[in-house]
Amino acid sequence: MPRRALMAGNWKMHKTIAESVDLVNALKTQAGSWPDRDVLVCPPFTALAAAAQAARGTAIQVGAQNMNDNLQGAFTGEISATMIKDTGATFVVLGHSERRQFYGETDALVNKKTKTALEQGLTPIVCVGETLAEREGGKTFSVIETQINGGLKGLSADQALRLVIAYEPVWAIGTGKTATPAQAQEVHAFIRRRLDALFGPKTADALRILYGGSVKPDNIDQLMAEPDIDGGLVGGASLKAEDFLRIVRFNAPAASRA
Ligand code: PEP
Repeated sequence: MPRRALMAGNWKMHKTIAESVDLVNALKTQAGSWPDRDVLVCPPFTALAAAAQAARGTAIQVGAQNMNDNLQGAFTGEISATMIKDTGATFVVLGHSERRQFYGETDALVNKKTKTALEQGLTPIVCVGETLAEREGGKTFSVIETQINGGLKGLSADQALRLVIAYEPVWAIGTGKTATPAQAQEVHAFIRRRLDALFGPKTADALRILYGGSVKPDNIDQLMAEPDIDGGLVGGASLKAEDFLRIVRFNAPAASRA
């Protein structure tokens, strides 16, 4: 079965409520033309409910960018899965490299968050990726293996089937340096082999692995032509409707993603 492509926009700490609604409304004008792909936007927490309301009844899905691993309690400044669901959002990005780098998130924490998200019926997008120093030190595959094993530890194959993986080389995020399609494909294929070893071929074949790192309108087609790249996690280029819509309209034939 071909995997259904997913294009996800990570808006990071950008956009007010009104700006978020404007962007969803602009994307909505094209939402009828995506029968074979999923489209997701991840606004900041403050705009989640308004974005979800604006997207209601369209093909646009809404997700959060982070989540606490607890459901409630004395965790000042944090947001739970229950609260995210309450906004109408259905996805959550977990373990983004900016969370790992600036807020010290570990694979163990990403694992707890992933389990909580799945238990609560949210779809986690679990991010992995190596730094430039790790790539240059020949450690890419061992870093990715550790992140996958740690982040997905203890999940059943059925649980794993409900998540999405994003491979985001840290050196490509927000830098304008994209991994070449061949570099990305090599790591995506490695991740799929790891998923096969952990959860079996059915889950490994079905799971979507997104590429993230300076995805742009002019490189998405080549990236999506690779067999193990099932979509994009897009930062900067998801902030402008025109650019993100072009990315969503990538033109690789669906058959090449089988
Ligand atoms: C991201 O936000 O996950 C990302 C990949 O950002 P950018 O597309 O700007 O590199």
